[in-house]
Amino acid sequence: MRAGDPGTEVLDWSPRSTRESQSSGTIPGMKIRVALIAILFCLFCFSAFAADPSDFTIKKIGEGVYAAISGDGSKAGSNAGFIVGSNGVVVVDTFVAVDPAKELLAEIRKITNLPIRYVVNTHYHLDHTGGNAVFSEAGAAILAHRNVRGWLRTENMKFFGANPKPEAKARVEALVLPDVVYTDAVDIYLGSRLVQVRYMLGHTGGDSVVMVPDANVIFGGDLIWQHHLPNLIDASTEPWMQTLDKLLVEHPAATFVSGHGDLAQANDVRDFRNYLTTLRQDVGKAQAEGKSGQELVDAVSAQLKEKYGAWGFFENFVKRNIAQTAEELAGKKKIPVAN
Ligand SMILES: [Zn+2]
Repeated sequence: MRAGDPGTEVLDWSPRSTRESQSSGTIPGMKIRVALIAILFCLFCFSAFAADPSDFTIKKIGEGVYAAISGDGSKAGSNAGFIVGSNGVVVVDTFVAVDPAKELLAEIRKITNLPIRYVVNTHYHLDHTGGNAVFSEAGAAILAHRNVRGWLRTENMKFFGANPKPEAKARVEALVLPDVVYTDAVDIYLGSRLVQVRYMLGHTGGDSVVMVPDANVIFGGDLIWQHHLPNLIDASTEPWMQTLDKLLVEHPAATFVSGHGDLAQANDVRDFRNYLTTLRQDVGKAQAEGKSGQELVDAVSAQLKEKYGAWGFFENFVKRNIAQTAEELAGKKKIPVAN
């Protein structure tokens, strides 16, 4: 975490003592606990955790623009944020469940009493949409790319395995769908403040980037992972790299809010773009050498570890990143289909 970034006001609402007392015990014990939670995250097997004040940190990144940055394995499950205009608020993503979303709403209410007009879901994955109900009940309209509405209650089921338990099914079926959908672009005016929502390719096929031009802030959702390996389950990595290139060319000095990891600057976005390039190159080379299956995964995994072993979610995602990219390069990858 770069909590002390110049120009970044940190409203850390998580007393260290709470975080420490939670993971009291030995360091190895804590590591196991964190690893277990991370694995749960990766499988999207989110059970009904109660929210805890150490789940995320509010960071002010511009006048009236805030990021909610969560740690790996936190009960919030992902990053989120909000933008305060002169007559209302736009929230970007709602965490993985109702409890952390209630905490986010409480944090917003410490800053402003203006109505929350819209929630933008940057994509359909449960870790960004699980708290929609909280903001819907607070009067906000949920806005997303049209594919999010089509996939929210169907595609999310796959994260619970072939035979989801009734609780998991009920949870996915209860997700609050977007009220407003768009195809390519939509602009929201919060009084005089413009918030641009743009459809961009790469991570799921239904991703939105939320831009606040007057603050030079871009909420990238899961199109941007800051020094973390990404979830590639629905990804198309070639258009994804083009999306990142476009963002870098058009917004070289922006503050980017990642979906996972800390706040990002252009160099972090470039690092992530280079990870996708390296992954594709290493997998392609191994395939050209005749490798496949476990042999390919093991070989590429060892190569990636040298450069990316210290990134978040490395152990959790590296094997799947390789296998899914091998499928993609072979033209065999199944990704969600627009309906
Ligand atoms: Zn995510």
